[in-house]
Amino acid sequence: MPRRNRRYAPKTRPLPRDGGSYYGTREEVGPHGDIYLVRHMGSASAQKYYVCPRCNQNIPPGASHIVAWPRDTGGRGDDRRHWHRHCWERR
Ligand SMILES: [Zn+2]
Repeated sequence: MPRRNRRYAPKTRPLPRDGGSYYGTREEVGPHGDIYLVRHMGSASAQKYYVCPRCNQNIPPGASHIVAWPRDTGGRGDDRRHWHRHCWERR
């Protein structure tokens, strides 16, 4: 089978100036049909406890997880939510 798994090939791309999105961020449809900006937080980036809005359980430091916020807020950070990855996938 040919290897086509090149999604993680490094790319250089300037960061957007508006702060609304940044490298590694993608758009997905959120729990209420809104467009969310979604970012994967690797375990090295997770340094605090967060509460997952779906299951109300802690996401402990060192646990890779999902950060999602509504696109229309401009990514100011006020509406960011940290989700377990499996919770986000079942939103
Ligand atoms: Zn959860």
